[in-house]
Amino acid sequence: MKKEEVLRLDAAHVWHPCTQQKDHELLPPLPIARGDGVYLVDYDGNRIIDGVSSWWVNLFGHNHPRLNRALTEQTGKIAHHIFAGFTHQPAAELAARLCELAPPGLTKVFFADNGSAAVEVALKMSFQYWQQVGVRQKTRFVSLTDAYHGETLGALSVGGCDLYRSIYRPILLEGFQVQGPDCFRCPYQKQRESCNAECIEQMERLLLQEHEQIAGVIIEPLIQGAAGMRVYPPVYLRKLRELCTRCDVHYIADEIAVGFGRTGRLFANEHAGTTPDLLCLSKGITGGYMPLAVTLTSEEIYRAFYDDYATMKAFLHSHSYSGNPLACAIAVEVLRIFEEEQILQLLTPRMNQLQAAAPRFTALAQVGEFRRCGMVAAVELVQDRNGKIPYPWQERRGLAVYREALARGALLRPLGNVVYFMPPLTINADELDSLLDIAYQAIVAVTEK
Ligand code: PMP
Repeated sequence: MKKEEVLRLDAAHVWHPCTQQKDHELLPPLPIARGDGVYLVDYDGNRIIDGVSSWWVNLFGHNHPRLNRALTEQTGKIAHHIFAGFTHQPAAELAARLCELAPPGLTKVFFADNGSAAVEVALKMSFQYWQQVGVRQKTRFVSLTDAYHGETLGALSVGGCDLYRSIYRPILLEGFQVQGPDCFRCPYQKQRESCNAECIEQMERLLLQEHEQIAGVIIEPLIQGAAGMRVYPPVYLRKLRELCTRCDVHYIADEIAVGFGRTGRLFANEHAGTTPDLLCLSKGITGGYMPLAVTLTSEEIYRAFYDDYATMKAFLHSHSYSGNPLACAIAVEVLRIFEEEQILQLLTPRMNQLQAAAPRFTALAQVGEFRRCGMVAAVELVQDRNGKIPYPWQERRGLAVYREALARGALLRPLGNVVYFMPPLTINADELDSLLDIAYQAIVAVTEK
Protein backbone atom coordinates (compact mmCIF):
# COMPACT_ATOMS: atom_id res chain seq x y z
CA MET A 1 0.00 0.00 0.00
CA LYS A 2 1.28 3.46 -0.85
CA LYS A 3 1.79 6.08 1.84
CA GLU A 4 -1.05 8.23 0.46
CA GLU A 5 -3.49 5.33 0.74
CA VAL A 6 -2.46 4.63 4.34
CA LEU A 7 -3.08 8.27 5.16
CA ARG A 8 -6.42 8.30 3.36
CA LEU A 9 -7.70 5.25 5.24
CA ASP A 10 -6.30 6.56 8.50
CA ALA A 11 -7.98 9.93 8.09
CA ALA A 12 -11.26 8.23 7.24
CA HIS A 13 -11.35 5.67 10.06
CA VAL A 14 -8.65 5.86 12.74
CA TRP A 15 -9.06 7.65 16.05
CA HIS A 16 -5.56 8.05 17.55
CA PRO A 17 -4.64 7.95 21.25
CA CYS A 18 -3.91 11.13 23.18
CA THR A 19 -4.62 13.26 20.13
CA GLN A 20 -6.91 16.11 19.16
CA GLN A 21 -7.79 14.62 15.78
CA LYS A 22 -8.22 18.09 14.31
CA ASP A 23 -4.47 18.65 14.77
CA HIS A 24 -4.02 16.18 11.93
CA GLU A 25 -5.36 18.82 9.55
CA LEU A 26 -2.06 20.63 10.10
CA LEU A 27 0.20 17.68 10.77
CA PRO A 28 -1.08 14.29 9.60
CA PRO A 29 0.23 11.17 11.37
CA LEU A 30 3.48 9.91 9.90
CA PRO A 31 3.24 6.44 8.37
CA ILE A 32 6.17 4.30 9.50
CA ALA A 33 7.38 1.58 7.19
CA ARG A 34 9.83 -0.18 9.49
CA GLY A 35 12.17 0.14 12.45
CA ASP A 36 15.92 -0.18 12.58
CA GLY A 37 17.67 0.01 15.96
CA VAL A 38 16.91 3.38 17.53
CA TYR A 39 15.40 4.61 14.27
CA LEU A 40 11.86 4.69 12.93
CA VAL A 41 11.96 4.70 9.13
CA ASP A 42 9.18 6.39 7.16
CA TYR A 43 7.88 5.52 3.69
CA ASP A 44 10.37 7.87 2.04
CA GLY A 45 13.30 6.26 3.82
CA ASN A 46 13.76 9.12 6.32
CA ARG A 47 15.23 7.93 9.61
CA ILE A 48 13.88 9.34 12.86
CA ILE A 49 15.64 8.74 16.17
CA ASP A 50 13.12 7.36 18.63
CA GLY A 51 13.99 9.67 21.52
CA VAL A 52 11.01 8.56 23.62
CA SER A 53 11.34 4.80 23.08
CA SER A 54 7.91 4.86 21.41
CA TRP A 55 6.01 5.85 24.55
CA TRP A 56 8.66 4.49 26.88
CA VAL A 57 8.38 0.87 25.82
CA ASN A 58 11.38 0.15 23.62
CA LEU A 59 14.55 -0.98 25.39
CA PHE A 60 16.99 -2.40 22.87
CA GLY A 61 15.93 -0.80 19.58
CA HIS A 62 13.44 -1.75 16.89
CA ASN A 63 13.66 -4.87 14.78
CA HIS A 64 15.95 -6.57 17.27
CA PRO A 65 17.31 -9.88 15.98
CA ARG A 66 17.07 -11.76 19.29
CA LEU A 67 13.56 -10.52 20.06
CA ASN A 68 12.46 -11.23 16.49
CA ARG A 69 13.76 -14.78 16.87
CA ALA A 70 12.07 -15.29 20.24
CA LEU A 71 8.78 -14.19 18.70
CA THR A 72 9.10 -16.40 15.65
CA GLU A 73 10.09 -19.43 17.70
CA GLN A 74 7.12 -19.06 20.00
CA THR A 75 4.77 -18.40 17.06
CA GLY A 76 5.80 -21.78 15.67
CA LYS A 77 4.57 -23.41 18.90
CA ILE A 78 1.44 -21.51 19.91
CA ALA A 79 0.46 -17.85 19.80
CA HIS A 80 -2.09 -17.86 22.57
CA HIS A 81 -4.15 -20.10 24.78
CA ILE A 82 -6.42 -19.63 27.76
CA PHE A 83 -4.46 -18.98 30.96
CA ALA A 84 -7.05 -20.18 33.46
CA GLY A 85 -6.55 -23.88 34.13
CA PHE A 86 -3.60 -23.98 31.68
CA THR A 87 -0.06 -22.74 31.78
CA HIS A 88 3.06 -22.66 29.63
CA GLN A 89 6.82 -22.49 29.92
CA PRO A 90 7.35 -18.80 29.00
CA ALA A 91 4.90 -17.58 31.68
CA ALA A 92 6.26 -19.90 34.37
CA GLU A 93 9.85 -19.04 33.49
CA LEU A 94 9.14 -15.32 33.34
CA ALA A 95 7.32 -15.30 36.68
CA ALA A 96 10.15 -17.18 38.38
CA ARG A 97 12.82 -14.92 36.90
CA LEU A 98 10.94 -11.72 37.81
CA CYS A 99 10.62 -12.90 41.41
CA GLU A 100 14.37 -13.55 41.49
CA LEU A 101 15.21 -10.11 40.12
CA ALA A 102 12.57 -7.96 41.83
CA PRO A 103 13.08 -6.49 45.30
CA PRO A 104 13.16 -9.32 47.86
CA GLY A 105 9.86 -10.60 49.21
CA LEU A 106 7.85 -10.42 45.98
CA THR A 107 7.03 -14.00 45.17
CA LYS A 108 3.82 -14.07 43.15
CA VAL A 109 3.08 -12.71 39.68
CA PHE A 110 -0.34 -11.88 38.25
CA PHE A 111 -0.51 -11.32 34.48
CA ALA A 112 -2.40 -8.67 32.51
CA ASP A 113 -1.83 -7.00 29.18
CA ASN A 114 -1.26 -3.28 29.68
CA GLY A 115 -0.06 -0.88 32.33
CA SER A 116 -3.44 0.46 33.35
CA ALA A 117 -4.66 -3.10 33.88
CA ALA A 118 -1.66 -3.84 36.12
CA VAL A 119 -2.65 -0.85 38.22
CA GLU A 120 -6.29 -1.99 38.37
CA VAL A 121 -5.07 -5.39 39.52
CA ALA A 122 -2.94 -3.83 42.26
CA LEU A 123 -5.80 -1.64 43.53
CA LYS A 124 -8.30 -4.49 43.49
CA MET A 125 -5.87 -6.90 45.18
CA SER A 126 -5.08 -4.39 47.88
CA PHE A 127 -8.75 -3.62 48.52
CA GLN A 128 -9.77 -7.28 48.53
CA TYR A 129 -6.89 -8.20 50.82
CA TRP A 130 -8.13 -5.85 53.52
CA GLN A 131 -11.70 -7.10 53.08
CA GLN A 132 -10.53 -10.68 53.50
CA VAL A 133 -8.35 -10.09 56.53
CA GLY A 134 -11.30 -8.37 58.21
CA VAL A 135 -10.23 -4.72 58.03
CA ARG A 136 -13.22 -3.70 56.01
CA GLN A 137 -13.05 0.04 56.40
CA LYS A 138 -9.79 0.22 54.43
CA THR A 139 -11.32 1.18 51.11
CA ARG A 140 -9.47 4.26 49.88
CA PHE A 141 -6.22 4.92 48.09
CA VAL A 142 -3.72 7.72 48.40
CA SER A 143 -1.98 9.14 45.36
CA LEU A 144 0.18 12.12 44.51
CA THR A 145 -0.60 15.34 42.71
CA ASP A 146 0.32 15.09 39.03
CA ALA A 147 0.58 11.32 39.26
CA TYR A 148 -0.12 9.18 36.21
CA HIS A 149 -1.12 5.53 36.50
CA GLY A 150 -3.09 4.94 33.33
CA GLU A 151 -6.43 5.85 31.89
CA THR A 152 -8.95 3.21 32.82
CA LEU A 153 -11.32 4.52 35.46
CA GLY A 154 -9.62 2.93 38.48
CA ALA A 155 -6.17 4.02 37.32
CA LEU A 156 -7.46 7.46 36.46
CA SER A 157 -8.96 7.74 39.95
CA VAL A 158 -5.46 7.57 41.44
CA GLY A 159 -4.06 9.89 38.79
CA GLY A 160 -3.40 13.55 39.35
CA CYS A 161 -3.01 15.01 35.87
CA ASP A 162 -6.07 17.18 35.30
CA LEU A 163 -5.51 17.08 31.56
CA TYR A 164 -6.52 13.42 31.43
CA ARG A 165 -8.84 13.33 34.36
CA SER A 166 -10.89 16.39 35.17
CA ILE A 167 -13.82 15.70 32.84
CA TYR A 168 -14.26 12.19 34.27
CA ARG A 169 -14.17 13.31 37.91
CA PRO A 170 -17.88 12.59 38.54
CA ILE A 171 -17.36 8.92 37.68
CA LEU A 172 -14.05 8.33 39.48
CA LEU A 173 -13.43 6.59 42.81
CA GLU A 174 -12.97 8.82 45.78
CA GLY A 175 -9.52 8.81 47.33
CA PHE A 176 -6.96 11.05 48.94
CA GLN A 177 -4.48 13.12 47.00
CA VAL A 178 -1.40 14.63 48.59
CA GLN A 179 1.22 17.00 47.26
CA GLY A 180 3.90 15.04 45.42
CA PRO A 181 7.59 15.88 45.32
CA ASP A 182 8.37 18.84 43.08
CA CYS A 183 12.11 19.35 43.31
CA PHE A 184 12.31 22.08 40.67
CA ARG A 185 9.85 24.27 42.55
CA CYS A 186 10.57 22.85 46.00
CA PRO A 187 8.35 24.56 48.58
CA TYR A 188 11.00 23.79 51.23
CA GLN A 189 13.82 25.46 49.23
CA LYS A 190 15.85 22.20 49.33
CA GLN A 191 18.02 20.51 46.70
CA ARG A 192 17.08 17.05 45.53
CA GLU A 193 20.65 15.82 45.99
CA SER A 194 20.75 16.71 49.67
CA CYS A 195 17.18 16.92 50.96
CA ASN A 196 15.56 14.55 53.41
CA ALA A 197 12.24 14.33 51.55
CA GLU A 198 10.76 17.02 53.79
CA CYS A 199 7.85 17.15 51.36
CA ILE A 200 6.56 13.81 52.63
CA GLU A 201 5.10 15.59 55.67
CA GLN A 202 1.64 15.96 54.11
CA MET A 203 1.62 12.24 53.32
CA GLU A 204 2.76 11.46 56.84
CA ARG A 205 0.02 13.55 58.39
CA LEU A 206 -2.65 11.95 56.22
CA LEU A 207 -1.48 8.40 56.87
CA LEU A 208 -1.24 8.90 60.61
CA GLN A 209 -4.71 10.44 60.75
CA GLU A 210 -6.64 8.39 58.21
CA HIS A 211 -4.88 5.03 57.98
CA GLU A 212 -7.91 3.19 59.24
CA GLN A 213 -9.70 3.90 55.98
CA ILE A 214 -6.64 3.69 53.70
CA ALA A 215 -5.86 0.50 51.78
CA GLY A 216 -2.76 1.67 49.98
CA VAL A 217 -0.57 4.43 48.62
CA ILE A 218 0.33 4.32 44.95
CA ILE A 219 3.26 6.22 43.47
CA GLU A 220 5.63 6.31 40.50
CA PRO A 221 9.03 5.72 42.11
CA LEU A 222 11.81 8.29 41.43
CA ILE A 223 10.27 9.83 38.31
CA GLN A 224 6.75 11.15 37.93
CA GLY A 225 6.67 10.55 34.20
CA ALA A 226 3.63 12.21 32.67
CA ALA A 227 3.97 15.07 35.18
CA GLY A 228 7.01 16.11 33.12
CA MET A 229 9.69 13.61 34.17
CA ARG A 230 9.78 15.05 37.68
CA VAL A 231 12.78 13.45 39.31
CA TYR A 232 12.89 13.01 43.08
CA PRO A 233 15.32 11.26 45.42
CA PRO A 234 15.22 7.68 46.81
CA VAL A 235 14.96 8.93 50.38
CA TYR A 236 11.29 9.66 49.61
CA LEU A 237 10.71 5.97 48.88
CA ARG A 238 12.49 4.89 52.05
CA LYS A 239 10.36 7.22 54.16
CA LEU A 240 7.18 6.18 52.39
CA ARG A 241 7.97 2.49 52.91
CA GLU A 242 8.48 3.11 56.64
CA LEU A 243 5.28 5.10 56.90
CA CYS A 244 3.23 2.47 55.08
CA THR A 245 4.58 -0.26 57.34
CA ARG A 246 3.93 1.83 60.44
CA CYS A 247 0.36 2.66 59.36
CA ASP A 248 -0.53 -0.77 58.00
CA VAL A 249 -1.12 0.50 54.50
CA HIS A 250 0.07 -1.09 51.25
CA TYR A 251 2.90 0.56 49.40
CA ILE A 252 2.02 0.13 45.71
CA ALA A 253 4.86 0.94 43.30
CA ASP A 254 3.98 1.69 39.71
CA GLU A 255 7.24 0.96 37.88
CA ILE A 256 5.48 0.68 34.55
CA ALA A 257 7.55 3.53 33.13
CA VAL A 258 10.65 3.43 35.33
CA GLY A 259 11.21 -0.33 35.53
CA PHE A 260 13.57 -2.32 33.34
CA GLY A 261 16.70 -0.21 33.51
CA ARG A 262 15.39 3.30 32.89
CA THR A 263 16.74 4.59 36.22
CA GLY A 264 20.08 2.82 35.79
CA ARG A 265 18.97 -0.17 37.88
CA LEU A 266 16.60 -2.89 36.82
CA PHE A 267 13.93 -1.53 39.20
CA ALA A 268 13.70 1.96 40.68
CA ASN A 269 13.02 0.63 44.19
CA GLU A 270 16.53 -0.84 44.23
CA HIS A 271 17.91 2.70 44.63
CA ALA A 272 16.15 2.92 47.98
CA GLY A 273 16.47 -0.71 49.05
CA THR A 274 12.67 -0.84 49.39
CA THR A 275 10.23 -3.61 48.63
CA PRO A 276 6.69 -2.58 47.74
CA ASP A 277 3.71 -4.71 48.71
CA LEU A 278 2.53 -4.58 45.12
CA LEU A 279 4.72 -3.80 42.12
CA CYS A 280 3.25 -2.97 38.69
CA LEU A 281 5.37 -3.55 35.58
CA SER A 282 4.66 -3.25 31.87
CA LYS A 283 6.07 -1.22 28.92
CA GLY A 284 9.75 -2.31 28.79
CA ILE A 285 8.90 -5.81 29.99
CA THR A 286 8.76 -6.97 26.35
CA GLY A 287 11.33 -4.47 25.07
CA GLY A 288 8.51 -2.70 23.25
CA TYR A 289 7.35 -5.73 21.27
CA MET A 290 4.07 -6.92 22.74
CA PRO A 291 1.48 -5.72 25.24
CA LEU A 292 2.14 -7.40 28.59
CA ALA A 293 1.88 -6.37 32.21
CA VAL A 294 2.39 -7.98 35.58
CA THR A 295 1.59 -7.17 39.17
CA LEU A 296 3.96 -8.74 41.67
CA THR A 297 3.04 -9.25 45.27
CA SER A 298 4.06 -10.89 48.51
CA GLU A 299 3.30 -14.25 50.03
CA GLU A 300 1.33 -12.47 52.75
CA ILE A 301 -1.10 -10.85 50.31
CA TYR A 302 -1.36 -14.04 48.24
CA ARG A 303 -2.23 -16.08 51.33
CA ALA A 304 -5.26 -13.90 52.08
CA PHE A 305 -6.82 -15.15 48.83
CA TYR A 306 -5.81 -18.81 49.17
CA ASP A 307 -8.61 -20.90 50.61
CA ASP A 308 -11.40 -23.33 49.76
CA TYR A 309 -13.46 -22.19 46.79
CA ALA A 310 -16.61 -21.79 48.87
CA THR A 311 -14.98 -19.07 50.95
CA MET A 312 -15.19 -16.91 47.77
CA LYS A 313 -11.76 -15.44 48.42
CA ALA A 314 -10.30 -16.03 44.97
CA PHE A 315 -9.04 -13.10 42.94
CA LEU A 316 -11.39 -13.37 39.98
CA HIS A 317 -9.85 -10.66 37.80
CA SER A 318 -9.17 -11.86 34.26
CA HIS A 319 -8.24 -10.70 30.78
CA SER A 320 -8.61 -12.77 27.60
CA TYR A 321 -4.94 -12.28 26.77
CA SER A 322 -3.62 -12.91 30.31
CA GLY A 323 -0.20 -14.50 30.15
CA ASN A 324 -0.02 -14.36 26.35
CA PRO A 325 2.74 -16.85 25.35
CA LEU A 326 4.22 -14.66 22.59
CA ALA A 327 4.58 -11.72 24.96
CA CYS A 328 5.96 -13.91 27.77
CA ALA A 329 8.50 -15.55 25.44
CA ILE A 330 9.79 -12.14 24.42
CA ALA A 331 9.88 -10.97 28.03
CA VAL A 332 12.00 -13.99 28.97
CA GLU A 333 14.38 -13.07 26.14
CA VAL A 334 14.48 -9.43 27.32
CA LEU A 335 15.70 -10.59 30.74
CA ARG A 336 18.31 -12.82 29.09
CA ILE A 337 19.54 -9.87 27.01
CA PHE A 338 19.85 -7.72 30.14
CA GLU A 339 22.06 -10.36 31.68
CA GLU A 340 24.05 -11.71 28.74
CA GLU A 341 24.69 -8.38 27.07
CA GLN A 342 25.38 -6.61 30.38
CA ILE A 343 22.96 -3.84 29.47
CA LEU A 344 22.95 -2.18 32.90
CA GLN A 345 26.71 -2.34 33.29
CA LEU A 346 27.14 -0.61 29.93
CA LEU A 347 24.78 2.27 30.75
CA THR A 348 27.28 4.39 32.70
CA PRO A 349 28.89 6.16 29.72
CA ARG A 350 25.48 6.92 28.20
CA MET A 351 24.17 8.32 31.49
CA ASN A 352 27.32 10.46 31.78
CA GLN A 353 26.83 11.66 28.23
CA LEU A 354 23.25 12.69 29.01
CA GLN A 355 24.41 14.51 32.13
CA ALA A 356 27.21 16.24 30.23
CA ALA A 357 24.57 17.87 28.02
CA ALA A 358 23.12 19.74 31.02
CA PRO A 359 25.26 22.92 30.81
CA ARG A 360 24.50 23.35 27.13
CA PHE A 361 20.77 23.33 27.77
CA THR A 362 20.81 25.35 30.98
CA ALA A 363 22.83 28.07 29.24
CA LEU A 364 19.65 28.85 27.30
CA ALA A 365 17.65 31.64 28.90
CA GLN A 366 14.38 29.76 28.48
CA VAL A 367 15.53 26.59 30.23
CA GLY A 368 14.52 26.44 33.89
CA GLU A 369 16.02 23.08 34.75
CA PHE A 370 17.82 20.09 33.30
CA ARG A 371 17.14 17.01 35.40
CA ARG A 372 18.14 13.40 35.00
CA CYS A 373 17.61 10.03 36.59
CA GLY A 374 19.41 7.13 34.93
CA MET A 375 18.68 7.12 31.21
CA VAL A 376 15.84 9.62 31.50
CA ALA A 377 16.49 13.35 31.25
CA ALA A 378 14.25 16.38 30.92
CA VAL A 379 14.60 20.03 30.00
CA GLU A 380 11.90 22.28 31.47
CA LEU A 381 11.18 25.34 29.37
CA VAL A 382 10.08 28.47 31.21
CA GLN A 383 8.91 31.86 30.19
CA ASP A 384 10.86 33.47 32.99
CA ARG A 385 13.76 31.65 34.57
CA ASN A 386 14.03 33.67 37.75
CA GLY A 387 10.41 33.24 38.67
CA LYS A 388 10.31 29.69 37.18
CA ILE A 389 7.20 30.89 35.37
CA PRO A 390 5.87 28.37 32.87
CA TYR A 391 4.83 29.26 29.36
CA PRO A 392 1.04 29.43 29.07
CA TRP A 393 -0.10 25.96 27.98
CA GLN A 394 -2.17 27.50 25.19
CA GLU A 395 1.05 28.42 23.38
CA ARG A 396 1.78 24.71 22.91
CA ARG A 397 5.54 25.17 22.95
CA GLY A 398 5.99 21.44 23.40
CA LEU A 399 4.10 20.74 20.19
CA ALA A 400 6.29 23.27 18.41
CA VAL A 401 9.41 21.44 19.70
CA TYR A 402 7.92 18.16 18.48
CA ARG A 403 7.48 19.58 14.98
CA GLU A 404 10.92 21.21 14.84
CA ALA A 405 12.59 18.01 16.07
CA LEU A 406 10.66 15.80 13.66
CA ALA A 407 11.74 17.97 10.73
CA ARG A 408 15.34 17.44 11.90
CA GLY A 409 15.03 13.68 12.31
CA ALA A 410 14.14 13.00 15.95
CA LEU A 411 11.00 11.93 17.74
CA LEU A 412 10.60 13.99 20.89
CA ARG A 413 7.16 14.23 22.40
CA PRO A 414 7.28 16.92 25.05
CA LEU A 415 4.96 16.86 28.04
CA GLY A 416 3.63 20.40 28.15
CA ASN A 417 6.72 22.60 28.44
CA VAL A 418 9.01 19.71 29.31
CA VAL A 419 11.19 18.26 26.58
CA TYR A 420 12.47 14.88 27.69
CA PHE A 421 14.74 12.10 26.54
CA MET A 422 13.97 8.47 27.19
CA PRO A 423 15.84 6.72 24.38
CA PRO A 424 16.32 2.96 24.06
CA LEU A 425 18.97 1.84 26.57
CA THR A 426 21.19 0.63 23.73
CA ILE A 427 21.45 3.99 21.95
CA ASN A 428 25.09 4.54 21.00
CA ALA A 429 27.22 7.64 21.64
CA ASP A 430 26.76 9.13 18.15
CA GLU A 431 23.03 8.53 18.11
CA LEU A 432 22.64 10.12 21.54
CA ASP A 433 24.73 13.09 20.42
CA SER A 434 22.46 13.57 17.41
CA LEU A 435 19.36 13.32 19.56
CA LEU A 436 20.66 15.93 22.01
CA ASP A 437 21.78 18.16 19.17
CA ILE A 438 18.42 18.05 17.45
CA ALA A 439 16.64 18.74 20.72
CA TYR A 440 18.89 21.72 21.34
CA GLN A 441 18.22 23.15 17.89
CA ALA A 442 14.48 22.56 18.21
CA ILE A 443 14.38 24.29 21.60
CA VAL A 444 16.34 27.25 20.28
CA ALA A 445 14.01 27.51 17.28
CA VAL A 446 10.94 27.46 19.50
CA THR A 447 12.08 29.69 22.34
CA GLU A 448 13.58 32.40 20.17
CA LYS A 449 10.26 33.06 18.48
N1 PMP B 1 1.65 3.95 34.86
C1 PMP B 1 2.64 4.73 34.41
C2 PMP B 1 3.65 5.27 35.36
C3 PMP B 1 2.72 5.02 33.04
O1 PMP B 1 3.69 5.82 32.60
C4 PMP B 1 1.76 4.47 32.16
C5 PMP B 1 1.78 4.74 30.67
N2 PMP B 1 2.37 5.90 30.25
C6 PMP B 1 0.76 3.65 32.69
C7 PMP B 1 0.73 3.41 34.05
C8 PMP B 1 -0.32 3.07 31.83
O2 PMP B 1 0.17 2.08 30.99
P1 PMP B 1 -0.66 1.71 29.66
O3 PMP B 1 -0.53 2.90 28.76
O4 PMP B 1 0.02 0.50 29.14
O5 PMP B 1 -2.05 1.45 30.08
